[in-house]
Amino acid sequence: MQPMFIDGTQTRGEAGEAIDVLNPATEEVLTQVPAGGEAEVNLAVAAAARAFPAWRRTPATERAHLLHAVAARLRQHHDDVVRLLTQEEGKPIPESDEEVVWTEDTLDYYAELGRHERGRVIPPGDPDQFNFVLKEPYGVVGCIIPWNYPLLLMIWKVAPALAAGNTTVIKPSVLTPLSTLRLAEVAFSVLPPGVVNVVTGKGARVGEALVRHPDVPVIACTGSLATGQSIAALAAPLMKKLHLELGGKDPMVIGPDVDLDLAVRALAYAGLINAGQVCTSTERVYVPRARLGPFAEALTEFVGSLRMGDGLEPTTDIGPMIRDSFRRTVEAQVEEAVGQGARLLAGGRRPSGRGFFYPPTVLTDVDHGMRIMRDETFGPVLPLMAYDDFDEAIRLANDSPYGLGASLMSHDPRLVKRFFEEVHAGTIWINDPLTDNYAGPFGGMKMSGLGRELGQEGLDEFTQVKHVHWDMVGARKSYWYPYGQAGP
Ligand code: NAD
Repeated sequence: MQPMFIDGTQTRGEAGEAIDVLNPATEEVLTQVPAGGEAEVNLAVAAAARAFPAWRRTPATERAHLLHAVAARLRQHHDDVVRLLTQEEGKPIPESDEEVVWTEDTLDYYAELGRHERGRVIPPGDPDQFNFVLKEPYGVVGCIIPWNYPLLLMIWKVAPALAAGNTTVIKPSVLTPLSTLRLAEVAFSVLPPGVVNVVTGKGARVGEALVRHPDVPVIACTGSLATGQSIAALAAPLMKKLHLELGGKDPMVIGPDVDLDLAVRALAYAGLINAGQVCTSTERVYVPRARLGPFAEALTEFVGSLRMGDGLEPTTDIGPMIRDSFRRTVEAQVEEAVGQGARLLAGGRRPSGRGFFYPPTVLTDVDHGMRIMRDETFGPVLPLMAYDDFDEAIRLANDSPYGLGASLMSHDPRLVKRFFEEVHAGTIWINDPLTDNYAGPFGGMKMSGLGRELGQEGLDEFTQVKHVHWDMVGARKSYWYPYGQAGP
């Protein structure tokens, strides 16, 4: 049993029950975690609320030193955390390694950004007045995390929240709590008790208890659209600040000018990394009609060369999906599309044996009437659709309730400019899909969410602004009561 982390201490809390954590590549139980509930949330929120006044008053430079210290401790345990992440989530070691490097570097980035400024001075209306804007922390931030990037999506919330002077309660996904608990044990433990707490358990119990808790003014959640909607409904009467990173159905447009081999490799990466279980996975592909045949052929050949297996094996390109239920969703969408006339060029059938594997799958003859082109798939599926001109490509790219990311492969500057101006998505990638930047805000338009992570914007999400108007002379004003008389 891996305990929770509350008030600087490892604890099982009052939870009587435990939840199995599986290795998705083998279906074996790795260990168990406590099935926390309202009691553990109350303990963690109370610890975070107790820690808040001192953490808020801690000078920003000192907070920066402490965040750098957390990053340094994580780097000491890097290989161990990388391996654990692959064991619980399934992604190949190079992808886990990248996730942990990003986690370490995000801590360093926000350590520095957090001490850079805390507001601005604005011009007063009178020479004897002084006006300024303060950015202040909220208090306790509830961080609700999905399973697909358990460390990265956690630290994109926790690092800026802490840098801004808040304290935190983290609720990892029940599917992948172990790397977060390990990080708490080896790295967050350098922080004062209560500044970071981790409570394990199900969304309906731990997540909802956090959202309902009156002493948690901010909820930052990455998850599905349905979860975001449920949190928003629960939080509305409490007027909580919500920061929601939700689902996507990202398009990639292949330009008429681009080299086919380059486009095939870029698409394979964008659609298959983490077995397609990325919120910004390319899930819809638009190819010029005249190039569709050769492109589909080259893509099919390339994905056929990728090796599927346990992420711990150094030769593995594609790991397992997280659970059979997610794999069944992918299968259902693919089978339905084929039933409606789509053509299967690769994959489409689960292998026998243990592990929740699903092969890279290529479809063509798809259209926007099919769920595979409308609903989030969250699996390694690449559906290809022809377009006749760039107007149509942009219209198809925008034909979705989601607006998280969008990619274009083209070296034609006229097409590039049209794409980044006309496509409604929070991130636009040109010729390098899915590459993030610590300083570049990340988040969704339309139904993909509220707010941004990373960059200055990602820090500002965790501060509330206060305008201070200070009249240093303080004389009676001509515009005060009573009206209808000459000045003071
Ligand atoms: P999920 O919505 O099932 O769960 C996310 C988290 O919310 C988990 O910790 C879960 O326990 C918790 N939760 C579930 N129901 C809750 C409720 N009613 N109240 C409070 N908390 C609740 O999502 P998932 O399956 O873990 O992750 C996959 C989803 O996350 C996909 O839809 C994906 O697109 C999305 N995602 C979005 C981004 C982004 O940045 N926009 C990044 C990664 C994943």
